[in-house]
Amino acid sequence: MFDDFEPVLDNSPLFASIYKNATANALQVMDQHGYILHVNEAFTHEFGYTKEDLYGKHCKVLFTEEDRSSQMPEMEIEKVNQNFSAVDRNYVVDKNGNCIWATGESVLTKNSEGKIFIIKFIQNIHEQKLLEKFLKESNEFSESVVKSITDALIVFDTGLRISKVNNAFYNLFNLHEETLEGVHLFELKNDFFHSDELKQQLQKVLENEAPAQFQLEWKNADGFTRYFSIKASFIDGKLVNKRVLMVVTDVSDKVQSEQQRDDLIAFVIHELRNPLSNIYLCNMLLEQSIEEGDKESGYEYLKKSNTATERLKSLIQELYDATKAGSGKLQFSSARFNIDELVKEVVDNIQLGDAEHVIRIEGQANTDVLADRGRIQQVMNNFLLNAIKYSPGATKVDVKIYTENGSVVVAVTDYGQGIPEEKIPHVFERYYRAHETKKIEGLGLGLFLCKKIIDAHNGRVWIKSKVNEGSTFYFSVPV
Ligand code: ADP
Repeated sequence: MFDDFEPVLDNSPLFASIYKNATANALQVMDQHGYILHVNEAFTHEFGYTKEDLYGKHCKVLFTEEDRSSQMPEMEIEKVNQNFSAVDRNYVVDKNGNCIWATGESVLTKNSEGKIFIIKFIQNIHEQKLLEKFLKESNEFSESVVKSITDALIVFDTGLRISKVNNAFYNLFNLHEETLEGVHLFELKNDFFHSDELKQQLQKVLENEAPAQFQLEWKNADGFTRYFSIKASFIDGKLVNKRVLMVVTDVSDKVQSEQQRDDLIAFVIHELRNPLSNIYLCNMLLEQSIEEGDKESGYEYLKKSNTATERLKSLIQELYDATKAGSGKLQFSSARFNIDELVKEVVDNIQLGDAEHVIRIEGQANTDVLADRGRIQQVMNNFLLNAIKYSPGATKVDVKIYTENGSVVVAVTDYGQGIPEEKIPHVFERYYRAHETKKIEGLGLGLFLCKKIIDAHNGRVWIKSKVNEGSTFYFSVPV
């Protein structure tokens, strides 16, 4: 056995020493046709086969099924015979049937007796390949994470030349270039990158070589101001040059809602301060009247002070209810009551305090409803008080009650300023005020609450209105 090749080793001590002592390079010796004659110990170590296992077998036993069916072993042998050498990179099937990634170089040699051998040097690169695969996969993973991040990401070098950006970056800054790699940050086709403030901030980041966070304002082409929160930090791996990762988050919505909240608080304070200053003033005048013994004026100021106190109380109640209604926690208790009587009661009560408008009731429902009386009264009150409040100078307000499709409908019509068509859909929103006048007091919460109350009774609220002609506010509740 092995007669063909072992004498070659005996005759060539230098080659024999390389062949026998190699540890990382597996060597496989074949005849001119690819039949295996010998393998060294490194081969046995890497792939499990001994020289006895492989002697006389065609080298294709070491190839995968797939490579065999594509005639790869035969092609390789043919190539060596033609070109005296051939390089390949594919799987070696080891003794246990595992596919091991390997690179091989086959060389055609002749000994002194003219006998031809093919010697194949094989290196096991399986771990390297696995590592490559792992790196590729983790790269793909990082890419997909970066892609899915909604914040704009940009990586640039210390010369401010871009090496990477994600899709969100293109979208946020409305950029359409195929690639931005190598482009200088300040040459990007968007005004944001030309601002002195950004330049100064980035200069600081580069000088200090420390992570930084700052906020910038940017007026875009549409004239809208946007707010960006920016975080910059250095990425300095050993293999790459120092680079900066900048994360740009659009915080416009947050900043705007904070601004709105501040405006709202200022507005609520303003509205509460009015009745409070009235109370303060009336009480001072009341004190003065008492000191002067002027009883009549004293009662007058007391009455005014009470009205302002009531106003303050109802504003606070509105705020409280609106907070409850916003989180769906408004409480209701149902009972049967006559709706005609309730409407009359509210009208009479309001008529007492308003001499300017004549409030007329037309029609009757002639039925009881199952509802929260106090809350329905609140809706009726709100509709009527608004009708008066938003029709200064008008002389009448009309109230109609009727039944329609199994519901009671109440309609309150005024002949006042009306509501512009585009604002009508918003008047039931929280804090919405359709008129910009500061002269008419209000928090913009009354109608929001009315809608919540009627919704909770499975009813409906709606409006018909024309500017300078007046409005009709309707609510319906099932009988
Ligand atoms: P407010 O406290 O501002 O009166 P509401 O929620 O009751 O709050 O009403 C919201 C807005 O709807 C008002 O600010 C006003 O602009 C408009 N509005 C309500 N009722 C009328 C009405 N009868 N006529 C004209 N506009 C009205």
